[in-house]
This record gives sequence, C-alpha cells and structure tokens, in this order.
Amino acid sequence: MMKNTQPVSLKQVKIEKGFWGYYRDLAFSSMIPHQWRALNDDLSDAPPSYSLRNLRLAADRNRGLSSGETYQGPCFLDSDLAKWLEAAAGRLAARPDEQLEKSIDEVIDLLAAAQEADGYLNTFGSLVLGKNRWRNLRDEHELYCSGHLIEAAVAYFEATGKRRFIDIMERNVACIAEAFGREPGQRRGYPGHPELELALMRLFHVTGNPHHARLARYFIEERGQQPLYFEEEKKRAGREQADWPPYIRPPLRQYQAHKPLKEQQTLDGHAVRALYLLSGLVDVAAESGSSELMQTAERLWDNCIRHRLYVTGGVGSTHHGEAFTFDNHLPNGTAYAETCASIALVFAARRMLEVQPRSAIADVMERALYNNCLASVQLDGTRFFYVNPLQVWPSASQQEPDHWHVKPERQKWFGCACCPTNLIRLLSSLDRYVFTYNSQTIYQHLYIDSEAVFSMANGLVQLTCRTRYPADGAVTLHKDGAACRLAWRVPGWCRQHTLMQDGRQVVPDIENGYIQIDCPAGPVTVSLTFDMQPCRVTCDPAVPENIGKVCLQRGPLLYCLEEADQGRELWRLYLPDNSPVDLDWHQAWPGDIPGLKAAGYRQADGPVDSLYRFAETPELVPVRLNFVPYYVWGNRGPGEMLVWLHALPG
Ligand SMILES: [Zn+2]
Repeated sequence: MMKNTQPVSLKQVKIEKGFWGYYRDLAFSSMIPHQWRALNDDLSDAPPSYSLRNLRLAADRNRGLSSGETYQGPCFLDSDLAKWLEAAAGRLAARPDEQLEKSIDEVIDLLAAAQEADGYLNTFGSLVLGKNRWRNLRDEHELYCSGHLIEAAVAYFEATGKRRFIDIMERNVACIAEAFGREPGQRRGYPGHPELELALMRLFHVTGNPHHARLARYFIEERGQQPLYFEEEKKRAGREQADWPPYIRPPLRQYQAHKPLKEQQTLDGHAVRALYLLSGLVDVAAESGSSELMQTAERLWDNCIRHRLYVTGGVGSTHHGEAFTFDNHLPNGTAYAETCASIALVFAARRMLEVQPRSAIADVMERALYNNCLASVQLDGTRFFYVNPLQVWPSASQQEPDHWHVKPERQKWFGCACCPTNLIRLLSSLDRYVFTYNSQTIYQHLYIDSEAVFSMANGLVQLTCRTRYPADGAVTLHKDGAACRLAWRVPGWCRQHTLMQDGRQVVPDIENGYIQIDCPAGPVTVSLTFDMQPCRVTCDPAVPENIGKVCLQRGPLLYCLEEADQGRELWRLYLPDNSPVDLDWHQAWPGDIPGLKAAGYRQADGPVDSLYRFAETPELVPVRLNFVPYYVWGNRGPGEMLVWLHALPG
C-alpha cells in the first residue's frame, strides 16, 4: 500500500501571520537563539547542557588535540544539538539569515571533525565507549542520535541545497549498515530508542538511495525477533544493566522489543519511543507495500487514540519509564504526557494522513498541537514543561514522590533537555502539517494562516489561506493557477459548517471527513465557516478518572481552571449541565483567544468540622467559573490547575 498523498517540502508553505505567526516568530527570534545559548552552557541559573562542549572535545580528540577533559552529561546529548540544528534549518528556510547559517556551518565542521574514519559519529561513543561502540544498544542511544542528526541534515539540505551535512550522515549510515543486518559478521541489533527508522526514511526520500529504506525496514522487522537482541547483549556484556523493575513493566516491553511488531497488539512502553517507532513503521510499511506492516501500524494507532490518549493530546500515563500503562488508565494528577511524546504523536499522525487522509487522524494531530505541545512553552518562549499534567496540586508536587515530576511552573532548562529542542523543530517545520497532496487533490488538515504553492498534474496551484483560527472559525481560501480538487477537514468538534464558493453556498462532496470541491483553472475564492461554540467534553465511562466529570473545549482549544482565578482547591468546583458557557473577552490571550465563563458552584466546608461526615448533603455555593485555554496555564505564577471538573446533572 503506497501513500495516497505526500507532505510538502520545507519551503513550499509560508506561515507568517495569524495565531501561528506569533509562535513561529517566537521560535525564530527568541527560542532558537535562547536554546543556542543553552546548548553552549551560556544560561545562568540553568543546568549546563554540555552538548557543544562535548562535540568540541570529540572533534579535538579526532584531530589529536586531546585536552584530557572528559565527556559530561547523559549519553544522548548529540540529539539535543541535532534537534536544534533541524529547527535552525527550518528557520533558514523561512527567513534566510547569514549569521545563523554560519553558526550551523561551524557545527557541521565540528561534526565532520568528530566523525571517525569509518563513518562512526557519536560524541559519547568516541569519547567514552571507544572500541566498545554499540555495546549497549538498549540504553546508549548511538543509533538514536544518528537518527536525529540525519533529520537535521535532511532539513538543512532542503533549506540551503548544501549537501555537506547529508554526505557526513550518509557516511555514518554506511557505517551503521555495515555493522547491523542479517549477514555473517553483522549484529542483529536495532535501536533501543527508535528514531533512526523514520530518519532513514526521510533520508531515502531526499536521496532516493534504496539502501536507506532497506536498512529502515531491517530495523523495523528485526525488532523483537528471537533470540531477543537486548537479552543477548546483556549476556554478552556479562554485566548488570539497570533494568526497569519487573513490577513496573514486563521486560523489554518498555522498548517495544518484547516481540515482533507484527505481533504487538497495543502501543506500549516508553511513549516517545513507541510513537517514533510507529512513525517509522508507517513510512516503511507504505514504501515496502507490506499490508501486514500497515495493519500493524493501524492497529497500534487505533489502540493509542481509543484508549491511551489524554484529552489534551498528551500520551504516557506514568512517570515510571515515561510510558504507556494499560487501556483507559489516564490519571490526571500524575499524568506524564511528555512534550516529546505529544510531538511524536503529531509526527505519526502526519504519516498516517499521508497514507490516507482521514479527519479523525487530523483531529488527533490538531488536539496534540494546540494543547499538549503548545502548553509546554511559556508565552515568552523561555521556559518549558517536560510533563504536561491535567491537574496540578503544588503541595503534592512538593511532597509526594509520585507527583514530583509534575511541576507547577515551567523550567528554564533540563538535565535531560529533549523537550525544548523538540518543540522548536516542530514549530519551525509546522508548514509540513498543514497540507498533504497528490497529483489531483490538495488536502488541508490544519487551518493555519499560510501561503503555499503545489505542483499538480494540471500545473502549478497557488493557495492562500487567511484566517484568525482558532480565535474564530472563519477561513478564506484563494486558489489560483491550474484546475485541481481541494479538500478540507471538518473537525470532529464542529457541529455545523458552511462552504461558500465565489459567494455562493455549495454542498460539497464529503469523504473520510473531508469536504471536497473541484476547482476550475483560474482564481477561485472559498469561504469556510466552522461553528466554534464552546462545547462540553465528556469521557468514555470506561475511564475511571473522568467519570462524572466534564471539561470545556472551543474549536481545537481545551480549557482549564486555575488558582489565579478561582482560589485553591479547584476540585470543589462543579459545572452544571444546564449552565450556559460564554466567551470572556475581558480575559483574551495572545492571538485573540477568549477565556470562557459560566455560572457554577463551589462545595463549601459544610457544618461539620470532621474528615468524614454522616449523611451530610453537600452545600453548594454559586460561583463564577473562569476558564483559560489550557495552552496558557501556568503563565501567572505557580498554582493549582484543573482540566476535568465535576459535572452537575441539571
Ligand atoms: Zn522530551
């Protein structure tokens, strides 16, 4: 099964205005330079990154200039730098910048200098492992880091047309391809942290080299085969590896390596790994035409979105191993919902959409993007959440070990800084998620103010999308150029929509949740309106955490309550089913996003001063409930936050 549509390339879509124009500008002008300082250990009051420092050491060592200093920090630091490089390449594609390009070229020089003669490239490996490279694939992340560097090289090539970085990484891939495979003398291993699989497919798509796709397929198909490689590796090493205790998770499920992917029924283990793996799996399945692999991808995706997805688009229910747990287990106060995992969900969704556009998949992509992903960054772009909970109780975060990971305020940087760099690469490549297309049809998945050009069967098509979405649901599209078919996703939250073509209302075809029209050659103007009344969201009663509860959503944006508006003990609040929910423009957020307000109740202390009471009817006091968009929570000082509150049947 080949893909039905393809993604856009890095320079094909321009995003400069509107809601995301603000965030793109924040990423380009503030976050990328800020994170560059972080990677250079140049931020005061933040833990050092060591990324550039280690790379310089490795380059010096290779040039015979050893200073005697040693590697510092966790083994995967090359990946933080790689994600920054990928983001910076996205910035160059959108806004050429000589100084930035020079900085990137200097890093590429360092990477070239640090690369060993046979193509091996890994700072930790060169400085720490030496001859013991690949000794512990499960935990030491050499293949993972190569994957991120490949993705950066592809982005830099797309942005500048310069091949040098790609050449470095193709030499690195040749070294990996020699070491791993089913031939005599090769290791039958695969990455402990998936990422290389999807990166190899990206490299294949820009170079056309089929060896890269074959290597990706090998890693996907070898994973979990008997004898289990990670078990063999452990025996060979004859040493103790720090395993996850078996009471947390069966061995190797954490790494999606307990059995072959084709036999796996649920999306398990470390959530970022699971979703990078799924992304690579979709690409490999489509390219190889294997219906069995594609069914596997569909099955794992369905399990994730039907039973393991937070309403915010977060995934990963436990901090033990940053992982999925089991179906319908979605605790709010101890949620992990790592920023990277939600970003990985966006990556996987886009690849699923390439196979076949389906609005339910794009809905998930939008949910993750506008809520979990966006909430991870402070409005000024300088602080970040790693964990994105749905309920915060600062006393618990301070005093109870199973809540320690839940921070009531964003942090400047992290000892494990995977999330901030992942977010900037998402923001700087946001254009790749708005559309996918084939020779006949352009599918618009996200309503983002943008301009784009497509090369279609009948010739070039120019598309301009003007919108204040998600401030409101009005979208105007100007299409010019060749005849083509245009398709727009009808969001799952939208109860009513209209489509006007050149001033006349039309009833379009609808397929897989996309309304579609045939446009003749020449200019056509289409106005779409999606009803954005606030709506109540409830949850499958199979999820114990959310039964009897409700949360609010308007358009793609989830809302929450905060201590700054409601005082402490948010769990005392009730939203009656019959209470109208209105927009609150007094509390507008960047992008002209309104707050929401409704009449509700707060449960009072009651007449009895005792922990347990007998047959006491709760005393409900009327209060005004002020909801803020989830993505801006935690911007007014630390305090409580709550997404799901009690519904009061009317
Ligand atoms: Zn992360």
